[in-house]
Amino acid sequence: MFRRRRPAIQVKTAEQVELMRAAGLLVGRTLELLRDAVKPGITTKDLDVIAEANIRDHGGVPSFKGYHGFPATICASVNEEIVHGIPSSGKELRDGDIISIDCGAIVEGWHGDSAITVPVGEVSAEQARLLEVTETSLWHGLAAGVAGARLTDMSHAIESYIRSQGRYGIVEGYGGHGIGTEMHMDPLIPNHGAPGHGPELEVGMCFAVEPMVNLGTKDTLELEDGWTVITTDGRHSAHFEHTFAVTPEGPRVLTALDEGREWFAKLGSSNSS
Ligand code: MG
Ligand code: MG
Repeated sequence: MFRRRRPAIQVKTAEQVELMRAAGLLVGRTLELLRDAVKPGITTKDLDVIAEANIRDHGGVPSFKGYHGFPATICASVNEEIVHGIPSSGKELRDGDIISIDCGAIVEGWHGDSAITVPVGEVSAEQARLLEVTETSLWHGLAAGVAGARLTDMSHAIESYIRSQGRYGIVEGYGGHGIGTEMHMDPLIPNHGAPGHGPELEVGMCFAVEPMVNLGTKDTLELEDGWTVITTDGRHSAHFEHTFAVTPEGPRVLTALDEGREWFAKLGSSNSS
């Protein structure tokens, strides 16, 4: 079997982007269900059950389940866990926690991938601010995803926004990616770095952008379960992600219920026409 030697970015037709939207919408709606379900006392396994049922009931397939042996539909990462936490019936959410929920689904062969971080009950101002900074940095990255831009323009937009907001640890070694007929495709999209590098973005390319931001150090550690990634100083971490398509009208956020209109208007992007 031939493998290409140099990374090539899959370009979708307008019809294929519509199929990606179906997958993205299912993921986005599933995450909204989970956001509503998060409360003290619920377990991360309970959330996983809700996610899998909703995806399957709507004709999708959970893409994480079985991915390199991952055992669940969502990644559920609480507090100092950054990403790839495994849902567990022994892990009950408590007032004051924050939980990052990452979810992916396949519909008719096309992938959607998105993540949110949600406060459990009452959280501190510092935690709330972490969530706000991380989510806003995601939208700055997405807004840079326009035809003719270079890949690392997104990386730079994410990093420079976070740095403008204070001292945070920006996680390295994990990041965004191309997406389409597979969840993880070329290229990787770092959440930091200088602008103007990497391939030029073209209409029909689809990417998942996903900043991970820590209250303390950027340094990470993978637990012995082979999945869960935590901060080395135990301070909390947030993660937000969306899948988008480069379109002639600007970035179309496939996993956002409103395709990003409200956020882009807020950022003053030219996307809202
Ligand atoms: Mg994800
Ligand atoms: Mg992803």
